[in-house]
Amino acid sequence: MKQIIEVRGLEKKYGTLAALRNVSFSVEEGKLFALLGPDGAGKSTTMDILSTYLKPDAGEVYLAGYPLGREDNEIRKRIGTVFQEGVLDAGLTVEENLRYRGALYGLQGGILQKTVKSALLVVGLEDMAKRRYGQLSGGQKRRCDIARALVHTPQILLLDEPTTGLDPQSRQHLWNTIKKLQSLAGMTVFVTTHYMEEAREADHVLVLDHGEIVAHGTPQELQRHYAHDWLMLVPKDAAALQEKLRREEIPFQSEKGTVRIALKDSMEAIALLQRLSSDIHSFQVVTGTMEEAFLAIVKPRKEEGGNCDKRN
Ligand code: ADP
Ligand code: MG
Repeated sequence: MKQIIEVRGLEKKYGTLAALRNVSFSVEEGKLFALLGPDGAGKSTTMDILSTYLKPDAGEVYLAGYPLGREDNEIRKRIGTVFQEGVLDAGLTVEENLRYRGALYGLQGGILQKTVKSALLVVGLEDMAKRRYGQLSGGQKRRCDIARALVHTPQILLLDEPTTGLDPQSRQHLWNTIKKLQSLAGMTVFVTTHYMEEAREADHVLVLDHGEIVAHGTPQELQRHYAHDWLMLVPKDAAALQEKLRREEIPFQSEKGTVRIALKDSMEAIALLQRLSSDIHSFQVVTGTMEEAFLAIVKPRKEEGGNCDKRN
Protein backbone atom coordinates (compact mmCIF):
# COMPACT_ATOMS: atom_id res chain seq x y z
CA MET A 1 0.00 0.00 0.00
CA LYS A 2 1.20 3.46 -0.92
CA GLN A 3 1.79 5.96 1.87
CA ILE A 4 0.21 9.14 0.55
CA ILE A 5 1.12 11.25 3.59
CA GLU A 6 4.43 10.79 5.36
CA VAL A 7 5.44 12.84 8.36
CA ARG A 8 8.76 12.42 10.14
CA GLY A 9 10.02 14.24 13.21
CA LEU A 10 7.65 17.18 12.93
CA GLU A 11 8.31 20.00 15.41
CA LYS A 12 6.55 23.31 15.89
CA LYS A 13 6.92 25.91 18.61
CA TYR A 14 4.91 29.06 19.24
CA GLY A 15 7.40 31.09 21.26
CA THR A 16 8.37 28.72 24.04
CA LEU A 17 5.27 26.52 23.73
CA ALA A 18 6.01 23.25 21.95
CA ALA A 19 2.83 22.67 19.93
CA LEU A 20 4.27 19.59 18.15
CA ARG A 21 7.04 17.39 19.45
CA ASN A 22 8.68 14.80 17.24
CA VAL A 23 5.48 13.80 15.48
CA SER A 24 5.84 11.00 12.93
CA PHE A 25 3.15 9.04 11.15
CA SER A 26 2.04 7.94 7.71
CA VAL A 27 -1.31 7.63 6.00
CA GLU A 28 -2.14 4.92 3.48
CA GLU A 29 -3.71 5.99 0.23
CA GLY A 30 -7.51 5.73 0.15
CA LYS A 31 -7.92 5.44 3.91
CA LEU A 32 -9.92 7.44 6.40
CA PHE A 33 -7.41 8.63 8.96
CA ALA A 34 -8.42 10.39 12.18
CA LEU A 35 -6.23 12.64 14.28
CA LEU A 36 -7.87 12.57 17.69
CA GLY A 37 -6.99 14.80 20.61
CA PRO A 38 -8.34 17.21 23.21
CA ASP A 39 -8.36 20.97 22.71
CA GLY A 40 -4.86 22.36 22.41
CA ALA A 41 -3.34 18.98 21.45
CA GLY A 42 -1.85 20.32 18.23
CA LYS A 43 -4.43 19.10 15.69
CA SER A 44 -4.91 22.41 13.86
CA THR A 45 -1.16 23.02 13.93
CA THR A 46 -0.63 19.65 12.20
CA MET A 47 -3.42 20.38 9.75
CA ASP A 48 -2.11 23.86 8.92
CA ILE A 49 1.35 22.44 8.28
CA LEU A 50 0.03 19.63 6.04
CA SER A 51 -2.00 22.13 4.06
CA THR A 52 1.16 24.22 3.41
CA TYR A 53 -0.06 27.27 5.37
CA LEU A 54 2.21 26.99 8.36
CA LYS A 55 5.95 26.34 8.31
CA PRO A 56 7.21 23.69 10.73
CA ASP A 57 10.42 24.25 12.71
CA ALA A 58 11.75 20.82 11.88
CA GLY A 59 10.73 17.57 10.26
CA GLU A 60 10.09 16.10 6.86
CA VAL A 61 6.65 15.90 5.28
CA TYR A 62 5.66 14.31 1.97
CA LEU A 63 2.19 14.61 0.48
CA ALA A 64 1.42 12.53 -2.60
CA GLY A 65 5.17 12.03 -2.91
CA TYR A 66 6.03 15.77 -2.94
CA PRO A 67 8.24 17.29 -0.25
CA LEU A 68 6.58 20.01 1.78
CA GLY A 69 8.41 23.32 1.70
CA ARG A 70 9.94 22.57 -1.70
CA GLU A 71 7.03 21.53 -3.93
CA ASP A 72 4.13 23.30 -2.22
CA ASN A 73 2.39 24.20 -5.49
CA GLU A 74 2.30 20.54 -6.53
CA ILE A 75 0.97 19.65 -3.09
CA ARG A 76 -1.77 22.30 -3.21
CA LYS A 77 -3.05 20.89 -6.49
CA ARG A 78 -3.52 17.52 -4.82
CA ILE A 79 -5.06 18.49 -1.51
CA GLY A 80 -8.41 19.97 -0.54
CA THR A 81 -8.57 21.67 2.83
CA VAL A 82 -11.41 22.46 5.17
CA PHE A 83 -10.14 24.68 7.97
CA GLN A 84 -11.60 24.79 11.46
CA GLU A 85 -12.76 28.36 10.83
CA GLY A 86 -14.69 28.59 7.56
CA VAL A 87 -13.04 30.69 4.88
CA LEU A 88 -15.91 31.23 2.43
CA ASP A 89 -17.38 34.61 1.59
CA ALA A 90 -20.68 35.05 3.44
CA GLY A 91 -22.01 37.60 0.93
CA LEU A 92 -21.51 35.37 -2.12
CA THR A 93 -23.80 32.52 -3.10
CA VAL A 94 -22.72 28.92 -2.65
CA GLU A 95 -22.16 28.59 -6.39
CA GLU A 96 -20.20 31.85 -6.66
CA ASN A 97 -17.91 30.78 -3.83
CA LEU A 98 -17.22 27.48 -5.57
CA ARG A 99 -16.76 28.99 -9.02
CA TYR A 100 -14.33 31.51 -7.61
CA ARG A 101 -12.38 28.69 -6.05
CA GLY A 102 -12.38 26.63 -9.24
CA ALA A 103 -11.17 29.64 -11.24
CA LEU A 104 -8.16 29.88 -8.91
CA TYR A 105 -7.21 26.41 -10.11
CA GLY A 106 -7.55 27.42 -13.74
CA LEU A 107 -10.94 25.82 -14.37
CA GLN A 108 -13.32 27.68 -16.67
CA GLY A 109 -16.39 27.43 -18.91
CA GLY A 110 -18.26 24.15 -19.09
CA ILE A 111 -15.66 22.26 -17.07
CA LEU A 112 -15.90 24.73 -14.19
CA GLN A 113 -19.70 24.52 -14.29
CA LYS A 114 -19.62 20.73 -14.29
CA THR A 115 -17.13 20.45 -11.42
CA VAL A 116 -19.06 22.91 -9.25
CA LYS A 117 -22.26 21.01 -9.91
CA SER A 118 -20.79 17.63 -9.08
CA ALA A 119 -19.11 18.96 -5.91
CA LEU A 120 -22.48 20.27 -4.72
CA LEU A 121 -24.12 16.98 -5.61
CA VAL A 122 -21.60 14.97 -3.56
CA VAL A 123 -22.29 17.01 -0.42
CA GLY A 124 -26.05 17.17 -1.04
CA LEU A 125 -26.26 20.92 -1.56
CA GLU A 126 -27.44 20.98 -5.16
CA ASP A 127 -30.61 22.86 -4.19
CA MET A 128 -28.67 25.53 -2.32
CA ALA A 129 -26.50 26.76 -5.21
CA LYS A 130 -28.14 30.20 -5.32
CA ARG A 131 -28.31 30.68 -1.55
CA ARG A 132 -25.87 33.10 0.07
CA TYR A 133 -23.24 31.24 2.10
CA GLY A 134 -23.99 33.46 5.12
CA GLN A 135 -27.60 32.26 5.14
CA LEU A 136 -26.81 28.54 5.39
CA SER A 137 -27.18 26.51 8.58
CA GLY A 138 -24.05 25.33 10.39
CA GLY A 139 -24.22 21.87 8.84
CA GLN A 140 -24.86 23.25 5.35
CA LYS A 141 -21.91 25.63 5.73
CA ARG A 142 -19.59 22.74 6.58
CA ARG A 143 -20.84 20.76 3.60
CA CYS A 144 -20.30 23.80 1.40
CA ASP A 145 -16.75 24.12 2.80
CA ILE A 146 -16.16 20.50 1.77
CA ALA A 147 -17.60 21.15 -1.70
CA ARG A 148 -15.17 24.06 -2.05
CA ALA A 149 -12.30 21.75 -1.13
CA LEU A 150 -13.43 19.31 -3.83
CA VAL A 151 -13.68 21.57 -6.88
CA HIS A 152 -10.17 20.80 -8.10
CA THR A 153 -10.69 17.04 -7.47
CA PRO A 154 -7.93 16.56 -4.89
CA GLN A 155 -6.42 13.19 -4.02
CA ILE A 156 -6.30 14.07 -0.33
CA LEU A 157 -9.00 15.79 1.69
CA LEU A 158 -7.86 17.47 4.91
CA LEU A 159 -10.64 18.34 7.36
CA ASP A 160 -10.08 20.16 10.65
CA GLU A 161 -12.84 19.36 13.16
CA PRO A 162 -15.56 19.44 10.51
CA THR A 163 -18.35 18.44 12.89
CA THR A 164 -17.59 20.66 15.89
CA GLY A 165 -20.60 22.75 16.84
CA LEU A 166 -23.07 20.77 14.73
CA ASP A 167 -26.18 19.03 16.04
CA PRO A 168 -26.08 15.20 16.07
CA GLN A 169 -28.13 14.87 12.90
CA SER A 170 -25.92 17.25 10.90
CA ARG A 171 -22.84 15.50 12.28
CA GLN A 172 -24.14 12.15 11.05
CA HIS A 173 -24.99 13.62 7.66
CA LEU A 174 -21.51 15.12 7.35
CA TRP A 175 -19.84 11.86 8.33
CA ASN A 176 -21.89 9.99 5.74
CA THR A 177 -20.62 12.48 3.14
CA ILE A 178 -17.03 12.02 4.29
CA LYS A 179 -17.31 8.24 4.20
CA LYS A 180 -18.95 8.35 0.79
CA LEU A 181 -16.04 10.40 -0.58
CA GLN A 182 -13.56 7.96 0.85
CA SER A 183 -15.28 4.73 -0.17
CA LEU A 184 -16.74 5.73 -3.54
CA ALA A 185 -14.19 8.22 -4.81
CA GLY A 186 -11.21 6.42 -3.24
CA MET A 187 -10.10 9.69 -1.72
CA THR A 188 -7.70 9.75 1.21
CA VAL A 189 -9.40 11.59 4.06
CA PHE A 190 -7.42 13.05 6.94
CA VAL A 191 -9.74 14.37 9.61
CA THR A 192 -9.19 15.83 13.06
CA THR A 193 -11.73 15.45 15.82
CA HIS A 194 -12.06 15.60 19.56
CA TYR A 195 -15.06 13.23 19.49
CA MET A 196 -13.85 9.72 20.24
CA GLU A 197 -17.04 8.20 18.86
CA GLU A 198 -16.22 9.76 15.48
CA ALA A 199 -12.71 8.38 15.51
CA ARG A 200 -14.29 4.93 15.70
CA GLU A 201 -15.38 5.36 12.08
CA ALA A 202 -11.80 5.78 10.85
CA ASP A 203 -9.48 3.09 9.47
CA HIS A 204 -6.65 4.36 11.61
CA VAL A 205 -6.53 6.67 14.61
CA LEU A 206 -3.62 8.73 15.88
CA VAL A 207 -4.05 10.22 19.34
CA LEU A 208 -2.27 13.49 19.98
CA ASP A 209 -1.93 15.12 23.39
CA HIS A 210 0.21 18.11 24.31
CA GLY A 211 1.84 17.96 20.90
CA GLU A 212 2.93 14.34 21.18
CA ILE A 213 1.61 11.10 19.75
CA VAL A 214 0.38 9.11 22.70
CA ALA A 215 -1.30 6.21 20.90
CA HIS A 216 -2.15 4.95 17.44
CA GLY A 217 -3.86 2.01 15.82
CA THR A 218 -7.16 0.91 14.40
CA PRO A 219 -10.16 1.87 16.56
CA GLN A 220 -10.49 -1.80 17.48
CA GLU A 221 -6.85 -2.00 18.56
CA LEU A 222 -7.15 1.13 20.70
CA GLN A 223 -10.32 -0.13 22.25
CA ARG A 224 -8.83 -3.53 23.00
CA HIS A 225 -5.64 -2.10 24.38
CA TYR A 226 -6.93 0.83 26.42
CA ALA A 227 -10.52 0.01 27.31
CA HIS A 228 -11.58 -2.95 29.44
CA ASP A 229 -14.48 -5.23 28.90
CA TRP A 230 -16.44 -5.36 32.14
CA LEU A 231 -18.33 -8.10 33.89
CA MET A 232 -21.32 -6.44 35.58
CA LEU A 233 -22.91 -8.44 38.38
CA VAL A 234 -26.20 -8.00 40.21
CA PRO A 235 -25.46 -9.68 43.58
CA LYS A 236 -27.95 -11.50 45.75
CA ASP A 237 -26.29 -9.94 48.77
CA ALA A 238 -23.96 -7.06 47.87
CA ALA A 239 -21.95 -7.14 51.10
CA ALA A 240 -21.44 -10.90 50.92
CA LEU A 241 -20.29 -10.80 47.31
CA GLN A 242 -17.87 -7.97 47.99
CA GLU A 243 -16.48 -9.88 50.93
CA LYS A 244 -15.98 -12.96 48.78
CA LEU A 245 -14.24 -10.96 46.03
CA ARG A 246 -11.89 -9.41 48.58
CA ARG A 247 -11.12 -12.82 50.03
CA GLU A 248 -10.39 -14.24 46.58
CA GLU A 249 -8.36 -11.13 45.67
CA ILE A 250 -10.45 -10.26 42.64
CA PRO A 251 -10.32 -6.47 42.10
CA PHE A 252 -13.77 -4.89 41.61
CA GLN A 253 -15.72 -1.65 41.73
CA SER A 254 -19.19 -1.29 43.22
CA GLU A 255 -21.84 1.07 42.03
CA LYS A 256 -25.53 1.39 42.96
CA GLY A 257 -25.96 -2.20 44.10
CA THR A 258 -24.01 -3.70 41.18
CA VAL A 259 -20.45 -4.90 41.15
CA ARG A 260 -18.15 -4.60 38.14
CA ILE A 261 -14.96 -6.45 37.42
CA ALA A 262 -12.48 -5.39 34.73
CA LEU A 263 -11.74 -8.23 32.33
CA LYS A 264 -8.53 -8.83 30.41
CA ASP A 265 -10.76 -10.24 27.69
CA SER A 266 -14.41 -11.21 27.61
CA MET A 267 -13.62 -14.96 27.85
CA GLU A 268 -12.30 -14.41 31.36
CA ALA A 269 -15.94 -13.87 32.36
CA ILE A 270 -16.68 -17.60 32.00
CA ALA A 271 -14.34 -18.70 34.79
CA LEU A 272 -15.42 -15.83 37.03
CA LEU A 273 -19.09 -16.64 36.57
CA GLN A 274 -18.46 -20.26 37.50
CA ARG A 275 -16.86 -19.12 40.75
CA LEU A 276 -19.56 -16.56 41.54
CA SER A 277 -22.74 -18.11 40.11
CA SER A 278 -24.25 -18.90 43.52
CA ASP A 279 -23.81 -15.27 44.68
CA ILE A 280 -25.50 -13.41 41.82
CA HIS A 281 -28.95 -12.83 40.36
CA SER A 282 -27.76 -11.84 36.92
CA PHE A 283 -24.77 -10.61 34.93
CA GLN A 284 -23.82 -8.76 31.78
CA VAL A 285 -20.56 -8.49 29.85
CA VAL A 286 -20.08 -4.91 28.67
CA THR A 287 -17.58 -4.03 25.96
CA GLY A 288 -15.19 -1.16 26.61
CA THR A 289 -15.97 1.94 24.53
CA MET A 290 -13.79 4.15 22.39
CA GLU A 291 -14.57 6.95 24.83
CA GLU A 292 -13.13 4.90 27.68
CA ALA A 293 -10.03 4.19 25.60
CA PHE A 294 -9.57 7.88 24.82
CA LEU A 295 -9.92 8.87 28.46
CA ALA A 296 -7.46 6.19 29.50
CA ILE A 297 -4.94 7.49 26.96
CA VAL A 298 -5.34 11.21 27.58
CA LYS A 299 -6.54 11.69 31.16
CA PRO A 300 -3.52 10.56 33.15
CA ARG A 301 -1.39 13.03 31.21
CA LYS A 302 -3.85 15.85 31.76
CA GLU A 303 -3.64 15.37 35.48
CA GLU A 304 0.05 16.18 35.33
CA GLY A 305 -1.10 19.78 34.89
CA GLY A 306 0.95 21.75 32.42
CA ASN A 307 -0.35 23.50 29.37
CA CYS A 308 -3.53 25.45 30.02
CA ASP A 309 -3.09 27.81 27.09
CA LYS A 310 -5.87 26.94 24.68
CA ARG A 311 -6.46 28.69 21.42
CA ASN A 312 -9.78 26.97 20.64
P1 ADP B 1 -5.95 21.85 18.63
O1 ADP B 1 -6.31 22.17 17.21
O2 ADP B 1 -5.64 20.40 18.85
O3 ADP B 1 -6.95 22.36 19.59
P2 ADP B 1 -3.80 23.74 18.15
O4 ADP B 1 -2.91 23.13 17.13
O5 ADP B 1 -4.74 24.80 17.69
O6 ADP B 1 -4.56 22.59 18.95
O7 ADP B 1 -2.90 24.37 19.30
C1 ADP B 1 -1.86 23.66 19.93
C2 ADP B 1 -1.25 24.55 21.01
O8 ADP B 1 -0.59 25.64 20.40
C3 ADP B 1 -2.26 25.14 21.95
O9 ADP B 1 -1.70 25.20 23.23
C4 ADP B 1 -2.49 26.53 21.38
O10 ADP B 1 -2.87 27.43 22.39
C5 ADP B 1 -1.14 26.87 20.82
N1 ADP B 1 -1.24 27.77 19.65
C6 ADP B 1 -1.87 27.51 18.49
N2 ADP B 1 -1.71 28.50 17.60
C7 ADP B 1 -0.96 29.44 18.21
C8 ADP B 1 -0.44 30.70 17.81
N3 ADP B 1 -0.67 31.20 16.61
N4 ADP B 1 0.31 31.38 18.71
C9 ADP B 1 0.55 30.87 19.94
N5 ADP B 1 0.11 29.69 20.38
C10 ADP B 1 -0.63 28.97 19.53
MG1 MG C 1 -8.00 22.95 16.37
